[in-house]
Amino acid sequence: MRDGQQMATQAIHAGEIHDSSGSHIAPIYQTSTFTFADMASVEAWAEGETDAYIYSRGGNPARTALAAKLSALESFGMAEDSESVTAEIFASGMAAISAAIMGIAKAGNHVITQQVLYGSADHLISDVLPEFGITNTRIPGLDPTALATELANHPETAVVYLETPANPTLGIIDTARTAEIAHANGAKVIVDNTFATPILQRPLELGADLIVHSTTKYINGHGTVVGGAVVSRHPEVMEEQVASLVRFVGGVPSPFDCWLTNLGLKTLPLRMRQHCASAMKVATFLDTHPAVTATHYPGLPSHPHHELAASQMDDFGAMIAFDLGSYATATQLMDRIELCTLAVSLGNIDTLVEHPASMTHRVVTPEDRARSGITDGLVRISIGLESVDDIIADLEQALAT
Ligand SMILES: *Cc1c(COP(=O)(O)O)cnc(C)c1O
Repeated sequence: MRDGQQMATQAIHAGEIHDSSGSHIAPIYQTSTFTFADMASVEAWAEGETDAYIYSRGGNPARTALAAKLSALESFGMAEDSESVTAEIFASGMAAISAAIMGIAKAGNHVITQQVLYGSADHLISDVLPEFGITNTRIPGLDPTALATELANHPETAVVYLETPANPTLGIIDTARTAEIAHANGAKVIVDNTFATPILQRPLELGADLIVHSTTKYINGHGTVVGGAVVSRHPEVMEEQVASLVRFVGGVPSPFDCWLTNLGLKTLPLRMRQHCASAMKVATFLDTHPAVTATHYPGLPSHPHHELAASQMDDFGAMIAFDLGSYATATQLMDRIELCTLAVSLGNIDTLVEHPASMTHRVVTPEDRARSGITDGLVRISIGLESVDDIIADLEQALAT
């Protein structure tokens, strides 16, 4: 991983609040409103002379601290414009995704995205946004030629939205190539960086305009919070188009949730290193197991986008999908696991296993699931930080015939 140690320092120190109490760890400002000393301070605020906190829907110190830490990590190593990178924190990943897309695409605009997406993002784009006049096309893998053609067919395209690695099939999209084609046609690129985190890939460096995160996952990492974030390289887009949706649509996170997420984020570089190392071992184990018909992990040389993953990521992440051939065999595994837990969500310190067709991607129609490669035998596993030997032993006993 690039300059791992320096990222570790940023993760711990960037954005930290050191208030006048001398408190080492920043307190939680569990307050809905903030006081003005007098009318002169009201006037100074109204004239834009101070950026005081007023009301916790607009801003709260814990939110500011988390946003500063996340933008420091997402802009890490950017040669230019790293100061233009800012973040806004939301109450969920979906609040962040909807604000990012609806901040840029308006009624009459078009969104182009890949075929396979996180289930709720899929539902937002294919079912909710059309009701607001925002249409879409899906292109498997965002194939560059097909993307250029579709952009030419839809000059009203405002957003190209991508997820890499993609949930749940772990396909990789070429972010730099996509950004080049999108920008040539005047569209902005939004990347969901939830699976990789800034520790493994920094989409802004690759040309993306905005990043969205479900901070529920690796960023918080401990399974205690639902949260989201948008990171942008364009201050005016953030200020005028996205941040207003935090304030006026109102999907704001609580001070406590921001505080917990900020605490989790401090160990992200360390956690990702172990998540990745363990995932590589589990993927190798699954790939050679006779009960497994296919293993989808970008770190395996057999993965169709292995080279691309190696070129745009610093490591391959800790999400693996594998096929057991049928619903019955997948069910058997789910019912037998003991150490690993049957649950949706991912990126936690403990290993979580789920069945996309009946859980996270249930909202996707069977036809679209088939098109996306989400078979009835597909199992998704998020490799946690337990001893990797224990994770493998649990899978081994669950897979035994
Ligand atoms: C979980 C997730 C989301 C949605 O985030 P929430 O915090 O659940 O709203 C979006 N994208 C990906 C890749 C996710 O894993």
